[in-house]
Amino acid sequence: MSTASARILDGKAVARSVRDEVRERAERLIARGVRPGLAVVLVGEDPASQVYVRNKDRAAQEAGFEVRTERLPATTGQEQLHAVVDALNADPAVHGILVQLPLPEGLDADAVVARLDPAKDVDGLTPTNVAALVTGREGLVPCTPAGCIELLDRGGVELKGARVVVVGRSMLVGKPFALLALARHATVTICHSRTRDLAGVCRDADVLVAAVGRPELVRGDWVKPGAAVLDVGINRRPEGGLVGDVAFEEARAVAGLITPVPGGVGPMTIAMLIRNTALAAARLHGVAWDELAPAAAQG
Ligand code: NAD
Repeated sequence: MSTASARILDGKAVARSVRDEVRERAERLIARGVRPGLAVVLVGEDPASQVYVRNKDRAAQEAGFEVRTERLPATTGQEQLHAVVDALNADPAVHGILVQLPLPEGLDADAVVARLDPAKDVDGLTPTNVAALVTGREGLVPCTPAGCIELLDRGGVELKGARVVVVGRSMLVGKPFALLALARHATVTICHSRTRDLAGVCRDADVLVAAVGRPELVRGDWVKPGAAVLDVGINRRPEGGLVGDVAFEEARAVAGLITPVPGGVGPMTIAMLIRNTALAAARLHGVAWDELAPAAAQG
């Protein structure tokens, strides 16, 4: 028996092309005397954070950026951490600052994030950037939800008028994605752990985004035939390997388009971080982003 099968959106390939485009724009910025600079602040020894930071460093270097990692011991105090952020805020060679979360116990992450210069806040988490997203003003947008929008755009998914259901309401993914989809004229529903009839709400979605952190929560019969399904979840299987928030094989048989885990949304997060850093560098030096586009430079 043959079953219909969704097109798989290859996040690795899309991330590659975003990173290549950013590198080209960065080359044009560098030619104007501006080398994008990214500073990553890593406090403590969390093994997952070490891996993330290494990957971010590598991607930024590959894009031609100046990269600096401030490694601080887990015993770092709040005031000390603020002083590091203040110095990076003041440093003209630094255009993007990323404080790797979570911070060790005892440190107030909200206070650290609030201290970042919003123009350098490449994670888009400062109150100023959150407000910009809510009100539709120019700012810096969190990388994972921005990556989801980019994937949908490149996958040819129309958001205007579409029913979008987002499962998860975190400040990092669910809420900002919902706001970005709303800005694109989608009709948006945000679900969470207390949503009644979650499966029924999901079944209504033209675009279904799962950002929960529960392995294979979203089943195949929660998916509307032909829907686009974005799986943000990254869950470690006890036996090793990663699994998303969507039961991939089941959903794939019903959906029109689906992202795998790994290799879907994950690689987009770093690609968008690289883009945000180049964008921040351009803005801080009064250069229009469009001026750096390959087509504009050729014309
Ligand atoms: P979070 O824990 O901050 O938020 C999870 C959300 O899911 C909450 O709003 C909660 O209400 C909701 N939720 C929990 N249980 C639920 C249930 N049974 N039914 C419906 N909703 C439920 O997590 P987060 O930071 O938003 O991350 C979500 C997932 O995405 C995690 O697996 C995380 O590892 C992954 N993630 C991936 C990337 C990436 O680059 N791909 C980036 C960030 C997060």
